[in-house]
Amino acid sequence: MSPRGWALLTLAGLGVALVVAALVLIPWQRPPAPRADQLAALRDLPTEQVERARQFRSALRPGGWAALGVGLLVALALGLTPLGSRLVELAGRPFGGHWIAQAILGGLAVVLVADLVTLPFSAWRHSVLTRYGLATNGWGGWAVDLLKSYAVSAVIGAVALLGFYTVVRLAPRWWWAFGAAGAATLVALLSFVLPVLVEPVFNRFRPMEPSPLRSQLMELAERDGVPVRDVLVADASRRTRAVNAYVSGLGPTRRVVVYDNLLREATPAEVTAVVAHELGHARDRDVPVGTLTGALGAAAAVVALYLIGSWPPLLRLAGVDSVAQPRAFPLLLALVTVAGLVFAPVQALMSRRVEARADAHALALTGDPAAFESMQRRLSAVNLSDPDPPRWEYLYSASHPSTVERIAAARAYARKVSR
Ligand SMILES: [Zn+2]
Repeated sequence: MSPRGWALLTLAGLGVALVVAALVLIPWQRPPAPRADQLAALRDLPTEQVERARQFRSALRPGGWAALGVGLLVALALGLTPLGSRLVELAGRPFGGHWIAQAILGGLAVVLVADLVTLPFSAWRHSVLTRYGLATNGWGGWAVDLLKSYAVSAVIGAVALLGFYTVVRLAPRWWWAFGAAGAATLVALLSFVLPVLVEPVFNRFRPMEPSPLRSQLMELAERDGVPVRDVLVADASRRTRAVNAYVSGLGPTRRVVVYDNLLREATPAEVTAVVAHELGHARDRDVPVGTLTGALGAAAAVVALYLIGSWPPLLRLAGVDSVAQPRAFPLLLALVTVAGLVFAPVQALMSRRVEARADAHALALTGDPAAFESMQRRLSAVNLSDPDPPRWEYLYSASHPSTVERIAAARAYARKVSR
């Protein structure tokens, strides 16, 4: 069988593995609370709060969708015309067109162009966040964060580009197989390493100070059977007013992180509700599961890029002879951008199901639906999230159930236990 035949077979295998993993590991069997209950929850929220959140979201929307559209157009313009391959050539020219220069500098130049065209929309977003009092870092802080994130992406990108094109040169016929394995490894590695190496670039973390709340949280984790060595506090307040908490990392790098804003704004019972939700993620192994599906997806993407990318009409459009050349990188980026937009709603759906399970876990663990509901109200009020966003936007991009869904779920839980 030819490498192409093997690639097709591998892609089919990875596709089946992904579907099976998604079917088995994502909690599909939990329908959202009835719409009538959601509407009742919406009516109970203060009208001004809902109005302000909706104004804020409407102010963000044009820039958000325009950034997606412009990002897509530029990726297509670079990938499906010879423009991108010329940019790669240009970046490699000072080094005599050496493949390493083309691979790293050319690849980073293409990514940078794609980032720069959406920069005005990021600035617009920051101005809206500032106008509504959600951003606290000013333009200086915004620019520093931006440069930091460019630097982090450039380091990771350079390693990935060099690794990828080295494999392509060493195994011209089978690079897709090694590339798939490498991409999967990279996803796993990043999931393990990012919390430890990259999060401190953007935030400072300190262990939560001894207090009745901290003891309560540690006791909660122990009762839940989730090994949490510490609860960390992130100094998010220097950037945003938003309140949040999250769990990240695997095994020894796993930690629960709460924003300092959360501790300041919320009552201890509400903080407990949030941390119980995060413990749910840890208990249900949502990070390893996400890493596994992400690794399978990345491997499948490399094989699919090999197969689709060798389609002659695409190569002609991009002005390259083979998808394996560094000059074809813009074509790969265009395909990845399209795939990202196509799969976004699927990812969002899976994320919402996982988040709903963590909510159910929090309710069961704390047995305190009232605190859970008041936390949801507070999250929505402080973060200015639309408690009941437009359906199409929700389906395309919402990573969490809506506020009214979450409140309705808490009330359904309260009814169930009081019966
Ligand atoms: Zn969550």
